[in-house]
Order: sequence, then C-alpha cells, then structure tokens
Amino acid sequence: MAGSGDVGATWALIAAAGSGDRLGIDRPKAFAGLGGRPLLAESLDRLDRCELIDAIVVAAPRGWEEPTILLAEELAASKVVACVAGGDTRAESVAAALAEVPEEALVVLVHDAARPLVDDAVIERLLGRLDGTVEGVVPGIEVRDTVKRVERGVVTETVAREGLVAVQTPQAFLADRLRTAFSGDLDDATDCASLVERHGGRVAVVEGDPRLVKVTTVGDLEHVAGLLKVDEVDDR
Ligand code: C5P
Repeated sequence: MAGSGDVGATWALIAAAGSGDRLGIDRPKAFAGLGGRPLLAESLDRLDRCELIDAIVVAAPRGWEEPTILLAEELAASKVVACVAGGDTRAESVAAALAEVPEEALVVLVHDAARPLVDDAVIERLLGRLDGTVEGVVPGIEVRDTVKRVERGVVTETVAREGLVAVQTPQAFLADRLRTAFSGDLDDATDCASLVERHGGRVAVVEGDPRLVKVTTVGDLEHVAGLLKVDEVDDR
C-alpha cells in the first residue's frame, strides 16, 4: 500500500462491498470471477494505472478486507492507501471510504466495482468538466428505449424520454462538496450525485460509455467477459 507523504489531489473510492446474492454465488460480487481474476481486480487495476488518479480507497465487503488488501498487493496497485469495511448500503460504504480521504484532497471520484470496464477516456471527460462551474460530474447514456412506469405488472405511465439519461460511475466531485453531501441523510441515495444534488450542488453530465455496464446478473458477467476478451484480442 502507498505510504504517507504527498496525499495527492485526486482520490478514487471503489464501492466494492455489495453482496453476490443476485449472481447466485457464495462470495461477494467483487470476488466473482471475471477473465480469471476477481471482478474487483479489473477496476482496481485500471484506476491504479490511470495517471489522473493519485490515491485509492476500497470499501471492501465486510470480512473480506484481508483478501482485498492481498488482491491490491498482487496487482501491485501502489495507489491503494486504505481498505475499509463497507456498510449495509452503497452510500454507507462510500461514507466509510470517504472518511479516509484527507482534507487536502481536491477531487473525489467514486466508482462501482460492479462496473469493471472503466477507462481513462471517461475519467478525462469527467475531470475536464469539473471546471469550477459545477460541484459534480457524472457519465450519462441517452435513454433510447421507451420508458414506462409499471405497478403490479400494469403500465401506469409512459415517461417522456426527452432529457432522460441513464447515469453510470465513476462520478467525480469536489471533495468538500461530497463531504457535505455525505454529512446528511443517506437514505434513498442510489448514487452519490443524488446526495450532492440534495444539498444544492450542480451536477453536470458528460458522455458515458456503454461498456460501463453494471454487473448484476450472470448474463451481465458473461457480457462483460465477452467485452474483455475483445480487448485482449485488440491488445495483441
Ligand atoms: O448492488 P449494486 O450492484 O447496485 O451496487 C453498486 C456498487 O455498490 C457495487 O460495486 C457494490 O459492490 C457497491 N455496494 C457497496 N456496499 C453496499 C452495497 C453495494 O459498496 N452495501
């Protein structure tokens, strides 16, 4: 793990404390197999190699802190400064990781381990937009399908699609604004941006990446494994 000294301006938090229930595995989702290594390895490796990131904190599944530290060591992920036990919700896990970020940090990027295919291009877009006019930036994908609200299997509303985006991670924030957002009520926060918005913060949207799919089901894992294989072939 990285030692103390210059803390760096840009910190990345990886939310990796979710359960593997919906994948039907007896391990946490972050330790599901992807291309011969744990799912978490992919995002950890990619964020560690990203030149725009100075330090990383991982919120590990409770009881899996040790394997998480070992994984970081195996990957020689030298930017990993801390590994904390996650909480009962994503927001609580992020709060635990955020507590490790020093006052001097300027920007905090929060990423889901469940979205393994993070790359430098999306991080460049996010940090490039965090220009002093907004407090946060998220990657968004235009919604192309018709969206309907459904109750008990019956449509109650067809939602106007105009202006709707599906939001992904990583999400980038001014560190002090993220801290303020996390000092309040964390209920119903499906992402960090919603907490910043609740506190009056302006959040910009940049182009997301269809490859940043979130692994929820076995089908998603297979889909991401397929995308990863294409990368490997391209790299040869
Ligand atoms: O459950 P879901 O996949 O929507 O979670 C999104 C991300 O948040 C995942 O990377 C998961 O590991 C993380 N998470 C967490 N702590 C929780 C629940 C989810 O870090 N208690």
